[in-house]
Amino acid sequence: MLLGGEKYSKTHYEILSLKEDATHEEIRSSYRSSILIFHPDKSNNNCEGEEKSREDFLKIRKAWEILGDPRSRANYDRELRASRQLLAVADDVELEEMGIEQDSEGEAFELYHPCRCGDYYWVSSSELGEMGVSLNGKRIGKHGLGAVERELLLPCGSCSLKIRLKIPVN
Ligand SMILES: [Zn+2]
Repeated sequence: MLLGGEKYSKTHYEILSLKEDATHEEIRSSYRSSILIFHPDKSNNNCEGEEKSREDFLKIRKAWEILGDPRSRANYDRELRASRQLLAVADDVELEEMGIEQDSEGEAFELYHPCRCGDYYWVSSSELGEMGVSLNGKRIGKHGLGAVERELLLPCGSCSLKIRLKIPVN
């Protein structure tokens, strides 16, 4: 299982800090810079740090093995999509149903929705921005092509449930 289950584990893309539509060049250069930082030979004498960096190093190597090869990457992408469809989606939520909390400057904000476990589903404006969604007050725009409704899966802060947030596009 790539995602879901009890504990969320990072995707190979996240390990290499890549977008899932990254080009081969981007994957290679991110792999190279990541491997320089985490190479076990470069770790200090602190045992714990060494253990952690070896683990990271292996994850980076593995990510590169999968993503660096177009055929294994295509397989991995398929698995990733399939596993996401299996995630437990508790509810479909419209944007208007989300609570909103703004910072004092009124620039950054977080949207939240209560989960049945007592915690909340959260998404911040910067996370939305990374996904190409910008919210200015109540106006929602989207960069990129295609004026389709966007759906985002938001995980709960405590349990494994998720909601599907529907974002209309003007
Ligand atoms: Zn929950």
